[in-house]
Amino acid sequence: EQDPRIRRIASSIRVVPDFPKKGIMFQDITTLLLDPKAFKDTADLFVERYTGKGISVVAGVEARGFIFGPPIALAIGAKFIPLRKPRKLPGEVISENYVLEYGTDCLQMHVDAVQPGERALVVDDLIATGGTLCAAISLLERAGAEVVECACVIELPELKGREKLNGKPLYILMESH
Ligand code: AMP
Repeated sequence: EQDPRIRRIASSIRVVPDFPKKGIMFQDITTLLLDPKAFKDTADLFVERYTGKGISVVAGVEARGFIFGPPIALAIGAKFIPLRKPRKLPGEVISENYVLEYGTDCLQMHVDAVQPGERALVVDDLIATGGTLCAAISLLERAGAEVVECACVIELPELKGREKLNGKPLYILMESH
């Protein structure tokens, strides 16, 4: 956390206790988006890290990966792939189910969005248990892509989601406790 930009980004994120249910400290990044400098600094930090790394695909996880992923993709000259909740994508899809605290969820990807051998970055706003990013990694790998890294603005380290990523590197801008 040496980069001075990170302090401003961190202070622009609103923490809402007991949302959407009791016991959850919700990290609300919509307030980060209200501060154009913080939003730009967030994108810039990722762009600085991923420029020149041969990444041809940025995959964003619905919904907040759709906010942070595209500015990175545009700046590094990569394509953007939305990883979506079921029944949103009109083309042929592959699916990954994953476990939530109560029940399961699913992510889908268009099969023809990525070619074997492409180098991919997975983007979301936050890693909690890691289930979502694990499903995202699986989709890309099933399509033959190499997942170079996952990138999130925030990590909740107590939940040890990092350990669920099958050794894939995870880059974060800050931890939240
Ligand atoms: P997980 O699959 O458990 O790592 O959960 C990550 C997904 O759930 C991300 O898409 C987050 O946006 C969302 N999420 C989980 N916990 C929180 C939280 N405390 N605040 C905001 N978003 C969260």
